[in-house]
Amino acid sequence: MERPIDFSRDRHMLCGGFGRRFVVDLDWIDRWEQGQEKCPGCGMTCEHEDAPQATVDPADPALDNDRVTRLL
Ligand SMILES: [Zn+2]
Repeated sequence: MERPIDFSRDRHMLCGGFGRRFVVDLDWIDRWEQGQEKCPGCGMTCEHEDAPQATVDPADPALDNDRVTRLL
């Protein structure tokens, strides 16, 4: 079953720079993709190779490991 994209929810980002997750909203994502935001943990912009990427919510009870693997 496909997991529908819910545009009303916050997004979880996983940063390869400082190895942490952080939660942002869609306005932040918009600015991020335009290079106007920096990672709150390490200050990288979206152009860096280790820049944060959208990831799943680890606390989401609807997810199990198999589904997470497919979603990623
Ligand atoms: Zn970072």
